[in-house]
Amino acid sequence: MERDYHLLIGGELHAGAASFDVINPATERAFARCPKADAAQLDAAVAAAQRAFGGWAATPVGGRADKILEIAAALEARADEFAALLTAEQGKPLDQAVKEVRGSAFVLRTFAAMRLEPRVLREDGAVRVIEHRTPLGVVAAITPWNFPLMLLVNKVGPALVSGNTLVCKPAPTTPLTTCLFGELCRDILPAGVINVVCDENELGRAITAHPGIAKIAFTGSTATGKKVLAGTADTLKRVTLELGGNDAAIVLDDVDPTAVAGKVFEGAMRNAGQICVAIKRAYVPEPMYDAFCDELARLAREMVVDDGANQGAQIGPVQNRQQYEKVSALIAASKEHGTVIAGGEPLDRPGYFIAPTIVRDIADDAALVREEQFGPVLPVLKYDDVDALIERVNGTDYGLGGTVWGRDLERACDVASRVTSGTVWINQLVAIDPRIPFRGLKQSGLGTEMGLEGLEEYTQAQVIHAMPLNL
Ligand code: NAD
Repeated sequence: MERDYHLLIGGELHAGAASFDVINPATERAFARCPKADAAQLDAAVAAAQRAFGGWAATPVGGRADKILEIAAALEARADEFAALLTAEQGKPLDQAVKEVRGSAFVLRTFAAMRLEPRVLREDGAVRVIEHRTPLGVVAAITPWNFPLMLLVNKVGPALVSGNTLVCKPAPTTPLTTCLFGELCRDILPAGVINVVCDENELGRAITAHPGIAKIAFTGSTATGKKVLAGTADTLKRVTLELGGNDAAIVLDDVDPTAVAGKVFEGAMRNAGQICVAIKRAYVPEPMYDAFCDELARLAREMVVDDGANQGAQIGPVQNRQQYEKVSALIAASKEHGTVIAGGEPLDRPGYFIAPTIVRDIADDAALVREEQFGPVLPVLKYDDVDALIERVNGTDYGLGGTVWGRDLERACDVASRVTSGTVWINQLVAIDPRIPFRGLKQSGLGTEMGLEGLEEYTQAQVIHAMPLNL
């Protein structure tokens, strides 16, 4: 894996103005250097994307789609290389990294097939009113560290097919797959259509305020999302914000607790809990509470927590030191407000490893219940009345996702409809699908990603009223 990584500006690979270490979270050791862009390199990337915009926007949509398909094929052909790098910088087990790479190719193919056709709004007599969708210009894609590749292509796919050009800015702790993706695109796309700049969190303000950027497509925390929104006010940029969540799993009283506990466990612990729509708190009816908690604890103790590069690893480390410390502190504090029945400690080895942790009998106002933990720890709460439960579930500023588990589907649907989240899954785990719109309510986001509605957000509408000249 010893190799150099570069910024991509105007179709050329560049060293950074400086560079920084990228740490493998399973070893806490630096394994590569990442180039760091300064303000001038950001300006150069934006200028290159602006220059490329006219030609790319004028390329027929079929031609743009063909290029996206080429990128998807190239990504799949190099899936092992991308997956190994993803595991090294992000920490997830290798088989899950391969899934992220293949899933990213699927996302690209899905967007390559999408079209926003002109809409006839009125056609009567001689008057014809048509709405066209046109690209915005330069899109800045700002991404977090939990799914560095998937969350990037969620933006690259719709931006490219609708005729925009891009400046991509990955998270400082997982920048390398984005650099490698830039290199891959360089061989396929015209110069400047995709540019990659990296930073250590310094470029955010300059990007959001940049007059040459038309839209910010952001995925990350709610706190940073608010800064992004504030930063775009002066230039009135278009913005989509996919932010944090505190998703509840609501278990109804007509299920087999052992079977559903397995699903809830998976939904909470996949990617070491670092998924925006991971299950972050579980609510279980009183009569089955003990059995449910016992099964969760059993599963937690069975998990193989290891370096994602090792065969058999099921849960890797938390991605970075800051998050590791945050999750460790939440677990330590939860010992005063609840009972830890599995895990509860970092592993005694190098790396940001935390044993999968289950906390029961925890108070509603404990930080672990109220805040987004974004780590391998699940609080399990008891309830006896569904109406009162809905209030507890909705009593948060977040509104991203959630799950309901029940045999009576009609009842489960009714409960789901009362949860104030952008998406609720019934009897299935987080199944984000690029064909289906995804959005956060309340402070979990602004705007839509994915689906045709998500694609529209990379365009602006222009209405043309046409009438023959009868003078
Ligand atoms: P973060 O907000 O710290 O960082 C996200 C990105 O923003 C990084 O690239 C970072 O460098 C950049 N950034 C930092 N300061 C900035 C500024 N002032 N202006 C613009 N950009 C700036 O998030 P994170 O810790 O990397 O990711 C975890 C968070 O992301 C969690 O809250 C998680 O729920 C959320 N997330 C949401 C979704 C979703 O679709 N809703 C998906 C994945 C992750």
